[in-house]
Amino acid sequence: MRFWEATAGRAFVGRLATGSDLVEEIERFCAEHGITTAQVTVIGAVRHASYAYYEQDDHRYRELDSATHHEIVGFVGNISMRDGRPFLHAHATFAKEDGATVGGHLLRGCEIFAGEVMIRELGGVSLVRQPDEETGLALW
Ligand code: ZN
Repeated sequence: MRFWEATAGRAFVGRLATGSDLVEEIERFCAEHGITTAQVTVIGAVRHASYAYYEQDDHRYRELDSATHHEIVGFVGNISMRDGRPFLHAHATFAKEDGATVGGHLLRGCEIFAGEVMIRELGGVSLVRQPDEETGLALW
């Protein structure tokens, strides 16, 4: 196990623009405000959901897609640095009209209908993603 002690930094609350890309909007905001480490939550709805499942044996993502309207019923994410830029790693659960859910590792391509976002910056720690040979992932 690896842990770092962090301190509470700035806090931001906002509304994502209708029609924007969920991942790109949050990463852009973080880049513009110098946020390099943070906790991110979102509640709202999307017109289209793009997510992935990580194949642990093959070390690759299986990309999934649901081209319908969904509620964002769960969203947990963090910001850390990858390739010199703020990178959002988030997992989300999306509910369809009958309440059935899908979800996974969030990808670009989720079109926002409405989204309320909270970003809690962390200080005193620098999280940088590096390739991890054992998992095939880019980890801290
Ligand atoms: Zn993930």
